[in-house]
Amino acid sequence: MATIKLWFGRQNFHLSKSFLLLKIIAVVFAVLLFCEFLIYYLVIFRCNWPEVKIRGYDSERETLEPVLKAMFLADTHLLGKVRGHWLDKLRREWQMERAFQTALWLLQPEVVFILGDIFDEGKWSSSQAWADDVERFHKMFRHPHHVQLKVVAGNHDIGFHYQMSTYRIKRFEKVFNRERLFSWKGINFVMVNSVALEGDGCNICSEAEAELIKISHKLNCSREAHRSSQCGDGQLLPASAPILLQHFPLYRRSDANCSGEDAAPPEERGIPFKERYDVLSQEASQKLLWWLRPRLVLSGHTHTRDWVYTNQTRVCFCPFPKSFSNSYML
Ligand SMILES: [Zn+2]
Repeated sequence: MATIKLWFGRQNFHLSKSFLLLKIIAVVFAVLLFCEFLIYYLVIFRCNWPEVKIRGYDSERETLEPVLKAMFLADTHLLGKVRGHWLDKLRREWQMERAFQTALWLLQPEVVFILGDIFDEGKWSSSQAWADDVERFHKMFRHPHHVQLKVVAGNHDIGFHYQMSTYRIKRFEKVFNRERLFSWKGINFVMVNSVALEGDGCNICSEAEAELIKISHKLNCSREAHRSSQCGDGQLLPASAPILLQHFPLYRRSDANCSGEDAAPPEERGIPFKERYDVLSQEASQKLLWWLRPRLVLSGHTHTRDWVYTNQTRVCFCPFPKSFSNSYML
């Protein structure tokens, strides 16, 4: 009798131990599922496109259409072979991929812009390392054919001005389109290679400036009520002020006037920015504003949010689960 009791006792002990183990596995699984998968849906689900009543560009009446759903990302900094530890890469890239894919699924943007520093080591990576980084980028940022993906170059993609070379620019533009002007649904986007706005007259800088002047001319023609003879017979762009997309922000003394979610920490806001390193030079910023007369300028590089709001464009900022910002990489 005593032997049978002991046997049942042992069986109960084993059963409760297995049950406890199952419970622990279930809890760990639930936590992983929530933190690594569901959290993205919960966070991004709170974002909505603003309802915009605009005047149709072909009529005077107010209408809800057409609205272009555009998503902007910056500074993804896909880690490279030299500085990226495999575990760090795995973690960050999983987070970025989940955030991007969830946002695509929930928000259904028509166009996605990435405002530079897509890669961390494009400025020095070998051809093989570059090819590996590009392959991972295509996997993480895969998107349906009807969604367009546009990018501008950042200093980590092609190097700061002193590292930038025609080879690195061409390598970047072979993967991503070298388009500078993109118009859709009445909106003109000008994509600037802001690394080439050093203003020292180097070949790459002169070419970049010449391109911008051409675009400025095209935009001016579209804004004229009566087309001047200098505008030729080519197709006109939509008659609207452009949105400027670039990696380096326009010149500002510091972030002292910035506030809100994702702004720089209060203790860093007063630190003066260095021209041609943190922000564009005053001269280059002034040129961009003169030539292009934009209604909105969006940029990356500082990894903090600062934004311009005008009554012509509505911008909805939606914080993603953290992984798109690395405060130590400019
Ligand atoms: Zn940068």
